[in-house]
Amino acid sequence: MHDDPTAMPAGVQYVYLASAALFILSLKWMGQVKTARHGNWAGIAAMLLAVLGTLFAGGISSQGFMWIGVAIAIGAVVGAPMALIMPMTAVPQRTALSHAFGGLAAALVGVAEYLENRGGDGLSTFTMGALSTEMLLGFLTFTGSLMAFGKLQEIITTKAVVYPGRNIVSMSTLALAILSAVYLTLNPHSTEAFALMIGASLLFGVLLIIPIGGADMPTVIAILNAYAGLSAAAMGFVLNNKLLIVAGSLDGTSGLILSIVMCKAMNRSFLNVLFAGVGAAPAANAGPKSPTGKTIVGFSIDDAKAVLEDTRLVIIVPGYGMAVAQAQHAVKELANVLAKQGTDVKFAIHPVAGRMPGHMNVLLSEADVPYDQLWEMERVNSLFPEADVAIVVGANDVTNPAARTDKTSPLYGMPILDVDKARTVIFIKRSMNPGFAGVDNRLFLLDKTMMVFGDAKKVMTELVAAFKEGAH
Ligand code: NDP
Repeated sequence: MHDDPTAMPAGVQYVYLASAALFILSLKWMGQVKTARHGNWAGIAAMLLAVLGTLFAGGISSQGFMWIGVAIAIGAVVGAPMALIMPMTAVPQRTALSHAFGGLAAALVGVAEYLENRGGDGLSTFTMGALSTEMLLGFLTFTGSLMAFGKLQEIITTKAVVYPGRNIVSMSTLALAILSAVYLTLNPHSTEAFALMIGASLLFGVLLIIPIGGADMPTVIAILNAYAGLSAAAMGFVLNNKLLIVAGSLDGTSGLILSIVMCKAMNRSFLNVLFAGVGAAPAANAGPKSPTGKTIVGFSIDDAKAVLEDTRLVIIVPGYGMAVAQAQHAVKELANVLAKQGTDVKFAIHPVAGRMPGHMNVLLSEADVPYDQLWEMERVNSLFPEADVAIVVGANDVTNPAARTDKTSPLYGMPILDVDKARTVIFIKRSMNPGFAGVDNRLFLLDKTMMVFGDAKKVMTELVAAFKEGAH
């Protein structure tokens, strides 16, 4: 399916151009909550145009069309239920699975091109270099993404599996894959180099993910996303398809930028995420017992209601627990009830609250929370000293003051939401257990803090009911 630009109908070239422009607009629009839906539609339209353009570019036999039809049908039968059934909290693993298939598709196209052309002298060093890159990145994305899926779905251990010398083993495997790829580029007829490159790439994908804790997986998925994109761009060079080069490069760079943004928000470096083995075991001070031995008494729904009455400004801080409990609709209802009594309600969004970028934005927009009530961390932090109450719904690490003061904490240096500066803090969670980072949160022990223990959705629903009852 080579599309020689000279042979490609002019109409198809215009379709490709429109598709490339829509891909770019899609990324731009998806960068803002307000325009994200447009971005999604633009991306869908771009992909549809790309597929239609390729189908009408010529060079496909009627049997080819038949097989393409079969592949589309199988993809639709598997993909549509996946999109409809999987809950929002499972989006990270669904994304990992998509990347696994994307990586495999790119790698298999590379294998097919290689096997079809290696007999003659049609493979120039440039084409062979692009082919090797495509296969190497495609295969490692495939196994790496499958492993990421397994960890996030808890099919395999979510803990970081660490062993002495693991980085040396991983780096040696990567070096072997790269050296075989270089050898294959220079000697396209070498079956041994071909097999070795594929084997080492598949193995490296597994080794790359094993020492990474389940909760770091979203960052790694963004990196794997970048690999899959670069693999597709390399495929574009092989097939001489400009649109694949453009779309693959956009995918590759956006994946890379996303992983950098996530690392920055967690105050971690790339290398720390990939090689430090964070999440191998719970931190030493993890657990329900407070460091001072102070007994924590849970507050009741009525206590929480009492402090929320007659408030001027309430800031709601959602976190991972809101996603687990699917409490976003109940949270929105509480915001409505408070607004009705005249309270100014704002939502504080930390960039890495939850387990994927934009997690809180997605959930709150699903519950129809108006965009102007969502306040990014930098803007909202100056408002906490004026807030009567900060309600923390299933968030933990993103509020932990240890990030400011405790140099030994894994959170040290991560920018946090300054909830401790509010007059009263209501924490809604099920226990004194720590969050992702596995460290205690001293905020739970402050006199201004009220712990309301329970599932976020249940507590929120009961709180709303208490307000409504009071109104009768
Ligand atoms: P945390 O993981 O720090 O805390 C979540 C809290 O939610 C837990 O302490 C848990 O306490 C509580 N919880 C869980 N289930 C429920 C429930 N059903 N009802 C009520 N509470 C519940 O989450 P944050 O959002 O504060 O922070 C995100 C963390 O994830 C950060 O450390 C970040 O670095 C990390 N991370 C984020 C990524 C992203 O892209 N967003 C990517 C990778 C990592 P309890 O068990 O007591 O209920």
